[in-house]
Order: sequence, then C-alpha cells, then structure tokens
Amino acid sequence: MKDRIIVTSALPYANGPLHIGHIAGAYLPADIYVRYNRLKKRDILFICGSDENGVPIMLRARKEGVSPQAIVDRYHAMNKQDFEKFGISFDYYGRTSSATHRETSQGIFRRLAENGVFRLKTEKQLYDPEAKLFLADRFVYGTCPKCGYENAYGDQCEKCGTSLSPADLIDPKSAVTNTTPVMKETTHWYLPLAEIQPRLEKWIASHPDWKPNVLGQVKSWFADGLKDRAVTRDLPWGVPVPEDVAAKEGVDVENKVLYVWFDAPIGYISATKEWAQQQGDPELWKKYWQDENASLVHFIGKDNIVFHCLIFPAMLMMHGDFVLPDNVPANEFLNLEGNKLSTSRNYAVWLKDYLEKFEPDSLRYTLAANLPETRDADFSWKEFQARHNNELADIIGNFINRTFTFLKKNFDGVMPPAAAADALDEELEQKIQQARETMGEHIEHFRIKEATRELMDLARFANKYFNDKAPWKTRKEDPEQCASTLNRCANTAYALAVMMQPIMPFSAEKIWKILNAPGSPETAKWDAVGTETLPVGHRFDEVKIVFKKIEDEVIQKEIDTLQAVLDSREDKGTPPEENVEQITIDEFARTELRVGRILSAEKMKGADRLLKLQVDLGTEKRQIIAGIAQHYSPEQLTDRKVVVVANLKPAKLRGELSEGMVLAAVAEDGSLSLVAPDEATPVGARVR
Ligand SMILES: [Zn+2]
Repeated sequence: MKDRIIVTSALPYANGPLHIGHIAGAYLPADIYVRYNRLKKRDILFICGSDENGVPIMLRARKEGVSPQAIVDRYHAMNKQDFEKFGISFDYYGRTSSATHRETSQGIFRRLAENGVFRLKTEKQLYDPEAKLFLADRFVYGTCPKCGYENAYGDQCEKCGTSLSPADLIDPKSAVTNTTPVMKETTHWYLPLAEIQPRLEKWIASHPDWKPNVLGQVKSWFADGLKDRAVTRDLPWGVPVPEDVAAKEGVDVENKVLYVWFDAPIGYISATKEWAQQQGDPELWKKYWQDENASLVHFIGKDNIVFHCLIFPAMLMMHGDFVLPDNVPANEFLNLEGNKLSTSRNYAVWLKDYLEKFEPDSLRYTLAANLPETRDADFSWKEFQARHNNELADIIGNFINRTFTFLKKNFDGVMPPAAAADALDEELEQKIQQARETMGEHIEHFRIKEATRELMDLARFANKYFNDKAPWKTRKEDPEQCASTLNRCANTAYALAVMMQPIMPFSAEKIWKILNAPGSPETAKWDAVGTETLPVGHRFDEVKIVFKKIEDEVIQKEIDTLQAVLDSREDKGTPPEENVEQITIDEFARTELRVGRILSAEKMKGADRLLKLQVDLGTEKRQIIAGIAQHYSPEQLTDRKVVVVANLKPAKLRGELSEGMVLAAVAEDGSLSLVAPDEATPVGARVR
C-alpha cells in the first residue's frame, strides 16, 4: 500500500441531472472506498467535478435557445448539490470551464506538442454549411456501418457500442439542421495511439490484478489495433487550442478546441490543483499526481474504459512526470425494472426526485448490495422496499431498537458492566473482528457487494445473539448475566455504527447519536472496531427509530411512474403514413387553434411530468395542465408564445382543471419542443 491514494470518479456531464445508473457506476462505490480508507487513517483524496465541454452541451443550449454557459451553470450547481445530499464526500468538486482547467489542459497539450508526440493531419470532414459548423461527434448522426442502427452518432453507435468517426456513417445528417452535410478541409492534431500501443500493452500487463471485465475490454481494443485519435475539434465551445502551438504549425486557431475526451480527464488534475490552492499549499497537488508514492484509482462506468485505461494513460505517459492509474475498477451497467435506463426517454430514477421522497441510505444500501460489479445488475422498487424493510429496518434497526429500549427501561440508559465471556460471547467477539477484517479486505479489492453482505451478516448475528441470550429472562433469573449481555449488545452497536459508516453514513450518525459516543463515526478508527468499547457508566441518548418502514403504496407510486413512461413510449409510436386517416378541411376547421402567451408556469406537487400554466388567449385567461415538465423548467416558459387548442373539452388532471392544450412536437427519441409562432404574432390570433 502506497503512502497516498488519489481517487477520482468520472466527471458527470453537465447537461442533465444524475440518475441511479450514474450513482451505481462511478460514485457510490468510490465513496464507500474513500470513506473506508479515511477510517483506516490513510492519506486519501477524493476528486470529481463537472465535465462542461463537448457537443451535447452545445446541442442542448441550441435547443433551449440559451448559451452553453447557462446550461453548465445550471447542471453543475444541481449535480453538486445532489451529490452532497446523497453523502458522496468529494474533497473537491471542480468544473472544466475553470481558468485553472484551461491552463492545465493547454499546458499538457503544449508539452505533448513540444515532445513531438502529435501528428498533424489535414483532411476533409463533414461540414454543415447552413449552421457553418464542422460536424464532429454528436453533431452528426446516420446509419451505423456495423449494425445498421439508423440513429448512430458520429463518435459512437449506442446500439452496438462501436466507436465511429463521422465519415464512417452511412447517409450522415447534421444534428443541428437535419440537412445532408458537405465535405470540407480542416487540420487536426492526432494522438498516435498505434505507435504508443506497445508501451500501453506492457503497462497493462503489469496489472494482472485488474477486474476481468476491464482487462477483457482493454485486450479486445489491443487485438483490434489502436487507431490514432484526433484530440482537437472545430467547435466554438471548449478549451481553445493554445495559439502559440497552432502558430508554430501555421494552423488557423479560430474555433479550434481540445477534444472533450482530451481535456475531461485532465479535469481530475486541475481540480486537484484547485483543491491544493484552497488548502493554502498550491504545490500540494504534485504529491498526488507526480509522486511515486501516490496511488491513482479511477472509478468509472464501463463505457469509459477506453479513455481511462488507454487514452488518458497514453497522454500521461508521453507527457512524463505523472503517475499512471494503479487501478480502474469500472462497473458494468445498471438496468431499471428489467429495462435499459434511458435519459432521453426519461426512463430513470433521478437522484433529485429520489432524495425528495426517501432517505439517502436506503438507496446507498440497496445499490451497494447489488452493484453491477462484474456484470449488469437490475434495480427494482420492490427490491428496494424489501432491502429497506427486511434488512435495514428488521435487522439493523431492530437490533438497535431492542438493545437501547431494553437499556433505557432496565438500566436507566446507562452502560452496565460485562461479566467474564462465555462461549456465545466469545463467538460474538470473533464475529465482529472477522467481519471487520473481511469487510475491509473486500473493500480494498473493490468488492463492495460482498462487503455489504458481510456487514448485514454481522447485524443478523447480533440479533441472534440477543435472542439466544434472552435478557428478558435473565433480567430476573440472573441480573449479572443480563447486564453483561446488554453491555455486549451496546458495544456491538458501537462497532456496527463504524462499520456502516462507509455504506450508510447518515444512519451511522443516527446510531452514534443514540450511543452518545465521543467524536463521530467519521472520525472513528476502523482498526479499533471490536476492541475499543464504551465504558461502564456511560450514558446513552434517547432511543429513536433509525429506519422507518416503507409502505406498499409509496412503492407502487414509483412503479406506476416508470410504467407510465414505458406506456407513453408505446403511445408515441407514430403510425406509418399510409395509415393516417384523411380528414376534410371542415373537419380540421372544427379544431380551434389560437396563439397564446404563457403568463406563468409552476410545478405540480406529486406530478413529475406536469406543469400548471396560466395562458393569455387575448380575450380570456386559461389554466392548462401540460405534460412538459421533463422538457421545460417553469422559468423557461414565462412569456413564451405557444399554440393552444382552445376548444378542447375541459378536464381535471390530478385535481386541477385544464382548459385546453398546448401544441408540441415530439421526436421519435421522446424529445419535445413547443410549437412557437413568430414573436410578432399577436396573442389570440387564429392558427389555421
Ligand atoms: Zn452499431
């Protein structure tokens, strides 16, 4: 074990909120690993931040009609806050739009250029003359040459996972204007991965201990032969290519930025620099990044393996001075109720929504017990409820409750003395020691699922111990034995609170409060678990329920919400053109469409998809309930002009009157945009 550990979690992309799939991939396992190591009193630093460059952010900004900066500001703040509420304990959460990040990324690019690493290539690339934009990555879509999927992006086919370049696509289309692009000449810097491959292979071979799913993917990349990758792009948003480097090559630098996958992992370094500045020791970052006694661990999802195991290490290697990752414990994917999670189709459990309804630890525990560590896993609300009720409440919660209720009632809430240990007492002591060691061993080897099982097994044994000892019987028959049992139960609770802390920090804190123990579960020592005990005469605090049971109807609501998403997906299937029934102009004229202006919009309680709108139709004001909350925030809607179906029969939605409907265009991928007349159109005008 090295002196220092630096842990990174994949930088979440700042163009949308977080869902449980993200959490199970790169954040919760990392947080458990870090919290455990803090209890081991190791020097460990936990770094993350928002990835704020790249094409999807620009696309989203264009769609919403705002600047890319507005998009990243919104999601950076939102995700940072949600992580905090969920107990993900980053030491620093940076962002790749910061000045430090720009300088650091440009510095690394410059050094690689000086080292003669890059190859320059001038070639023809797809260009959208209407948008005046080169179509890199996700700015272009078309048919995947490998599997025939029709909506493959220019950088990757989401269906078969093949990495693509825009020119590979059959029948490419601009994602901005949906027009067919032309070819235009441009110059870019390439990282010659084919040349670097032998060095990477040698380095990977020195890590036979890595997870098989990670090594498997890396080796298949090697077998295919690594291809040189462009590390610059023609885009107006991102870290600019340094002017001095471009000038030396005689390349026009306008609108040339570093490829997001070149600068994003550098975000780990720049965030560490900012953390060091915050500590008042600006050079401190080097002890984690440029010191052979530091160990680098990247927590990611499997879709990021190529970047963290090949491209970023290649960059660091060719730069020199930096440590290379010691381990990259990538997780597989999490599915939801047997279906693939989908951000664009809104089929997900959003962290933000979850936190409004449930305790963070219930999800932390459920996910930790079922992480996609070696293969894909499935999250279901029924399992969530069962884990919470049958394990957290009935096992840990029950043990805590019965122990401290008994102590309160029979020992005035004061720690009684222990007698000499009998066989069962000794077994309990051994179980605690064993669980501490085994759990630690599992976490150190990134087997969080097994560590979680170990913790629950110990709590299960503690309950059995309480039952077998039957203190309610010995209370009269053998008071000394009864006191001894309760002493051991209270100290077991003390041990459990520390061991729970990495997985369930909030509940550990609650138990700590009941224990009235000194310090906090965060400052406790892992190695003292089972040996450090609370003294006789120690006074406990009030007993409180640690885990309240979750009712069936609460869970059913969540299941229904997801089912509604699946149903609406089926509803939306547009029928083929020949099947659309024709109507006469008179039939169409029966629909009264009018231009309206949204006066105000507000969220509706308990309805994630609905917004309550007040709309001005010129002659009157209408209240309309619209299912657009997943696509627009209330702020974006105020003062917006829309087209309203004005003669729709009024209806009640979730108890609220809706008098009309706003028209929206719904794309095949589920994305939605309101139909908007020109700004000059007067309110109340008839649409025909
Ligand atoms: Zn494909």
